[in-house]
Amino acid sequence: MPATLVAPHLPPTVLVEELEAMERAVALYASDMPTRYRLRGPEDTAVIGWITQGVARLGREEIRQRASRLLGHRKLWLRDMTTPEIDRRHKERFPSKRRLNIAESMASTTVMWVGIVPAARNLLAEIDGPCPRCDDAGKLWVNQVIDDASGWYEEGYVPCWVCQNGGAE
Ligand SMILES: [Zn+2]
Repeated sequence: MPATLVAPHLPPTVLVEELEAMERAVALYASDMPTRYRLRGPEDTAVIGWITQGVARLGREEIRQRASRLLGHRKLWLRDMTTPEIDRRHKERFPSKRRLNIAESMASTTVMWVGIVPAARNLLAEIDGPCPRCDDAGKLWVNQVIDDASGWYEEGYVPCWVCQNGGAE
């Protein structure tokens, strides 16, 4: 890693490459990065500095949790499944949609400068509120056609695909 990417505020235990893109976005949102900021140069060290500042402010655990919930919100939003409660909690964390969009765009750009270590690519989606699909049962009853030819059906519970399978699509 080039020396220019070592930011002064970096807590010793957290390196930028250990942050998934959405975690970097959460950190940028919480940092002093001006919302109107425009990238400078091919590798903007100021942005890396704001990521580490955001991590220092919120702490590693909070960054990951907010990122998981952001991912969960995105997952529901893409399917038009957010509830007022889930939306409300999301807006409490990210009052400015514009700043969040900018933070996400900046964060994905930084991945080109500072790659993500494999161990950090395991961000799970978390639904912050009752699951709109299964109402927190964690499972769904399905009538699943197993075989078209024989017409054999199997009914049963399967893990809720909204709140139980976690990972990014
Ligand atoms: Zn569910």
